[in-house]
Amino acid sequence: MDLNTDLVIVGGGLAGFCAALEAACAGHQVIILEKLAETGGSSAMSGGCLAFAGTDLQAADNIEDSSELLYKDLREVGLFENDDELVRAYVDHQLETYQWLKRAGVQFGAHIEASSGQSVPRVHNVDPADMVRILAAKAKQTGKVQLLTGVAAQRLVQDDAGRVNGVIALKGADSFKVAGRLGVILASGGFNQNAELVHRYAPQYDHAVFIGGAGNVGDGLKMAWKLGADVRDMIYIKGTFGKHPTDETNHHSCLAVYKGAIAVNQDGKRFVNESISYKLLGDACIAQPYGAAYQILDRRILESGDNLTRILDLERRLEEGLMLEADTLEQLAAQIEIPAEALVRTVSDYNSYVDAGHDPDFGRKRLVHEFGELVRIEQPPFYAYPSTAAVFGTYCGLRVDAAMRVIDVFGDPLPGLYAAGEIVGGLHGGAYMTGSALGKAAIFGRIAARTAGSI
Ligand SMILES: Cc1cc2nc3c(=O)[nH]c(=O)nc-3n(C[C@H](O)[C@H](O)[C@H](O)COP(=O)(O)OP(=O)(O)OC[C@H]3O[C@@H](n4cnc5c(N)ncnc54)[C@H](O)[C@@H]3O)c2cc1C
Repeated sequence: MDLNTDLVIVGGGLAGFCAALEAACAGHQVIILEKLAETGGSSAMSGGCLAFAGTDLQAADNIEDSSELLYKDLREVGLFENDDELVRAYVDHQLETYQWLKRAGVQFGAHIEASSGQSVPRVHNVDPADMVRILAAKAKQTGKVQLLTGVAAQRLVQDDAGRVNGVIALKGADSFKVAGRLGVILASGGFNQNAELVHRYAPQYDHAVFIGGAGNVGDGLKMAWKLGADVRDMIYIKGTFGKHPTDETNHHSCLAVYKGAIAVNQDGKRFVNESISYKLLGDACIAQPYGAAYQILDRRILESGDNLTRILDLERRLEEGLMLEADTLEQLAAQIEIPAEALVRTVSDYNSYVDAGHDPDFGRKRLVHEFGELVRIEQPPFYAYPSTAAVFGTYCGLRVDAAMRVIDVFGDPLPGLYAAGEIVGGLHGGAYMTGSALGKAAIFGRIAARTAGSI
């Protein structure tokens, strides 16, 4: 039985529901297709950090931030490989999207932290599964959004003029068309659950840990490729540093380095400037022996963690038994089986660099990006957090313009086809700012819906 609506959205994660709510509020009928039995995708299992600038929460914490500073940081952390037009689109719509999410009922934690790529604290925390649930409920309340779970979009459909006007969908063995007068928004996430596709672009991560929504295998990307869509950032797939290599109970990274820890390899030696984007730390870590490292910290650094920000919740890792603890660095070295004299020398050298304000080995100046003063590692007990790089998302994909129209290999928009969220390439470029993937899902989802609705 074929279905008809105004707008078809593929994917029930953050991007899909933001697009659906935006379109429904503009008066359009929407059908969202979600291939799994449950909605949420990677969004619901994420760390819940969103990057916004100039918010009331930052002002309450006396943090001075602005769209311009966010723009500068996004470009810098992306190594200027990102698409200026997309960075502008993010920045121009971020504050209104933060306020829109709040109006929709999404609750942000009061405390703001600094993380990867941020020169001021701008991690805005949510419970990610709650956020998706709230937006889904809000979309449903409009009476204009129909959610079909367990239904996978398989192919895009074009009219005789080449305009995308629906998808072929599959539920069980039944195949049917879902037609959308306004077109189709692909919000089907990244493809980190497709090992073969990841290997094509990032073979160095073949043995990494992959964590993401089970449905994220690149369906949307392939559907758009078939129509000639172009791609961006494919060579920048990277793992995020800080994932415990063996623990399966807590799938989030732990970034003690951004609170002052150092990272050492199996030889007890530092190998990188720990303040850089955690994706670049991921690259550096995966190149070490066994693709593994330890974050080394002391009591003061442990206590400076933030239990509301999952990636900076250091004490929780200790409570979970994941953080190794010892009264001396020598004892800690014995626990993690690295040469004691090497670890003691590394920490002592690092402390002297902190005192001198100059790190001749790796040029570290800050805790994270341009933020925070370095601290000595000296107050027992000492801790080691085993860390590797985990690929939480692919963050590359379809080339879109600032209106989220999918662009083909010759630079022309594919009529009727829009994309938003992790399936979109070009925003992040060479590395990554914490919170910009969820931010991009929300901001670009709304823009895609507005563009589709204006046709
Ligand atoms: C553990 C983890 C922690 C993270 N932490 C953060 C963080 O703190 N901050 C941040 O900014 N980013 C974070 N990320 C990345 C971020 O969560 C994602 O980039 C973002 O949620 C993507 O949103 P989305 O809506 O595009 O995709 P998703 O939320 O993945 O939703 C896509 C949906 O599309 C569905 N789908 C796929 N193919 C089809 C099809 N053919 N038909 C129908 N449905 C389909 C999928 O099943 C899925 O439900 C994290 C990711 C992970 C895995």
